[in-house]
Amino acid sequence: MGSLKDDWKETGKDLGGAFKQLGKSIVKSGATVVNKANDWAERDDAKEAAKKEAEVEKAKEERAANTVVCPKCGAEITDPEAVFCLKCGEKLEK
Ligand SMILES: [Zn+2]
Repeated sequence: MGSLKDDWKETGKDLGGAFKQLGKSIVKSGATVVNKANDWAERDDAKEAAKKEAEVEKAKEERAANTVVCPKCGAEITDPEAVFCLKCGEKLEK
């Protein structure tokens, strides 16, 4: 068994090695965190895109619900107040 001073030296060396390893793993996990952050950012983009798509679909559905199709020429009349077809003048069925 060495002196107390030698023990401390050894401990210090071990600690130094441990800190070196810790530093390496922190750098590694830092890179992992950055990658994860990018993943999340991309996921948010995808979420936003899906939300926008859903809004567009909803708007389309709402428009379709208000759209009257002319029984004569098949024109789509988007004005819910329209009584006659804007294209051929046929009276629209409600
Ligand atoms: Zn028509």
